[in-house]
Amino acid sequence: MDAVLIVAGLDPSGGAGLLADAHVVRAHALHPAAVATALTVQDSARCHAQEPVDSSLVTAEIEALLDDLPIKAVKVGMLGSPAVARAVAAALQPLAKAGVPIVVDPVLRASRGADLLDGDPAEAYADLLPLAALVTPNREEAAALAGSPVEDEGDRRRAARTLRALGPRAVLIKGGHFTGDTVTDLLDDGAAEPLAITAPRRGGPAPHGTGCALSTDIACFLAKSTPLRDAVTQACARMQKRIETARAVGRGRPFLGDL
Ligand code: PLP
Repeated sequence: MDAVLIVAGLDPSGGAGLLADAHVVRAHALHPAAVATALTVQDSARCHAQEPVDSSLVTAEIEALLDDLPIKAVKVGMLGSPAVARAVAAALQPLAKAGVPIVVDPVLRASRGADLLDGDPAEAYADLLPLAALVTPNREEAAALAGSPVEDEGDRRRAARTLRALGPRAVLIKGGHFTGDTVTDLLDDGAAEPLAITAPRRGGPAPHGTGCALSTDIACFLAKSTPLRDAVTQACARMQKRIETARAVGRGRPFLGDL
């Protein structure tokens, strides 16, 4: 059975992070392998705190898995600290060299609550971005990594180009954190015209963990050799359905519906 490696934080509520990612991988009938980069104190309403795992432990965990499992794609989510980010980049070098697709979701802050990365984001991600087949920032993450505000459509296209110049083969800037009746996700894969995927905006509280699940779904499609534009288009459509079928599990934000 082919495996997808998830390198991300543990959200004990299961709404985001490793548990939610593993659920996505299983829905593809792939095997989820999971390395925890950080532990969080979190419920459905808020992320209260985070504690990065020691970077040498993260390195050892990744190396043990690379030596053993047939890993066909990697999703990198929350990293917690620059030391863990650098360790993950170093440990994933052999996979990147072998052409295994790596999807990097640059998680900087919980929508409600704690910072999920200590220190300067651009510095922390400098080694990792060149290994990525795709990086999937939201508006704030794109601005932090590109080093300039992202307000309008022109800013967004410029930020995508700036991020691509940092090394990833493609950049998906997610549209959920912009305003308007529709949400447009913009994929810049170096083609003359970026791919824009537009869907109606749903009212009500935003479900928890959408970014985690979307990037993992894309990684799973890439694991099955789906071309990038198809992988992103299918994953965005599936996310739309999961947002429509989101449900309350705890007292806070809803969790995504089933795949
Ligand atoms: N906790 C972990 C472990 C995460 O990886 C993430 C986001 O990717 C979050 C929390 C934040 O999720 P949200 O943006 O829905 O608050």
